Amino acid sequence: MTRIITSFIDGEFQPAEGARLFDKRSPVDGRVIARIAEAPQAEVDRAVRAARAALRGDWGRMTVEQRAAMLHAVADEITRRFDDFVEAEMADTGQPSHVMTHVFIPRGAANFKIFADVVKNVPTESFRMDTPDGRGALNYAIRKPKGVIGVICPWNAPFLLMTWKLGPALACGNTVVVKPSEETPLTAALLGEVMAKVGVPKGVYNVVNGFGPKSTGEFVTTHPQVDAITFTGETRTGTAIMKAAAEGLRDVSFELGGKNAGIVFADADFDAAVDGIFRSAFLNTGQVCLGTERVYVERPIFERFRDALKAKVEAVRYGRPEDHASTYGPLISQEHRDKVLGYYQRAVDEGATVVTGGGVPDMPADLKGGCWVQPTIWTGLSDDASVVREEIFGPCCHLRPFDSEDEVVALANDNVYGLSTTIWTQHLARAHRMAERIEVGITWINSWFLRDLRTPFGGSKQSGIGREGGVHSLEFYTETRNVCVKL
Ligand code: NAD
Repeated sequence: MTRIITSFIDGEFQPAEGARLFDKRSPVDGRVIARIAEAPQAEVDRAVRAARAALRGDWGRMTVEQRAAMLHAVADEITRRFDDFVEAEMADTGQPSHVMTHVFIPRGAANFKIFADVVKNVPTESFRMDTPDGRGALNYAIRKPKGVIGVICPWNAPFLLMTWKLGPALACGNTVVVKPSEETPLTAALLGEVMAKVGVPKGVYNVVNGFGPKSTGEFVTTHPQVDAITFTGETRTGTAIMKAAAEGLRDVSFELGGKNAGIVFADADFDAAVDGIFRSAFLNTGQVCLGTERVYVERPIFERFRDALKAKVEAVRYGRPEDHASTYGPLISQEHRDKVLGYYQRAVDEGATVVTGGGVPDMPADLKGGCWVQPTIWTGLSDDASVVREEIFGPCCHLRPFDSEDEVVALANDNVYGLSTTIWTQHLARAHRMAERIEVGITWINSWFLRDLRTPFGGSKQSGIGREGGVHSLEFYTETRNVCVKL
């Protein structure tokens, strides 16, 4: 029988009777793997009320130490149920098991631990001031939770990205109403079981499922009792959510789209650069916000680099995620596949040379219903081609030669997005110079997606608002108040 996923509110999964259900299909073969109950306005309202009540209950009375211990227990329980999380995330996304076991699930557990430790150790500021009577005054800051946080999540790394927000939100003493992507509801539901098992007070963690506009997502972001909204997803959706948040002047933290440039200089460690660019463009079937869709290669090594990248791309092994031989999965949905294939066609229309890929692979009969596309490399497009300017969010990149540092900086910066870049060079001074000149929130040099969770993470330009990570997350998830004591 197909499993039904319902909302998790006030510590309990809601009954499925009478709910409006929609199908969650496997990206691998198109089978329906679960039916999801879409939370209507009244259910979102109950979730928000439960979250608000929990702020005034046991959760609100806990010491920082107690909260931190509870989040460590959550992380430990995730680790204990590691295989369940891997299985759920594989079912939702169709991505190979090694991506789950090495990146997505361990990072989910780490997201709770790191922020539990941050809140215990971060100092607040204090100023001693002079007063006319000579006795002075002392100012000190205290941090208070913001309240009920609306957490709106995307589908591309569902558990990692959701917990990246939950860890700091809960560590700071907030309560949450989470709206997972309609494409990937499984791990958020599983986390409900973990929260209940560990004894996280009811109402602290609530999950409501559904779509975005005119559905559950909008019901959360427009709810007047939601105090702040943290969102990861498309820039266009961020614009809609920002308008919703304007009502009631609620704070937002946005991690949005990108069209990231990878830059390879002729002096780079060649094999490392090919590996790095390959991972950055094709990991997770290119569905990584930090992924590289524009690759600039210094002219003397352009052809050699193109050929080496092509060889790596053509060696990917399609297959089911649980098959350890698979290195490459499907896209998330047929809708996203249509969008990516639309760009594949547009690249040809815009005059691209297709170095490899560009279509749909011939899959065995049992996988034909999946959302498969070939990993694709293009050359020869002009700098104003839509394929070079717009976020595709698929397994594809365009390679273009460059001749000078100034030229490549201008090319990299010529985009409305500014999320991340990856630069490959052995020239130390140039690497630092480039890092200062490229307009992005995150620069990797001779690496990609190497994450220290204490560092600021976020996008420049239309790639985001605010920074999360380490103490930077506290800026959003707490309100800092000043206390002035006359001595
Ligand atoms: P999306 O914007 O379509 O959806 C994200 C979430 O927002 C979903 O849960 C959706 O239901 C909800 N939503 C949609 N419209 C809404 C509305 N009007 N009101 C409230 N909620 C609404 O994004 P996606 O397709 O799920 O994710 C892919 C995008 O996410 C890409 O653009 C990618 O670059 C971006 N992304 C950014 C980062 C980052 O850290 N900057 C990380 C991952 C993904």
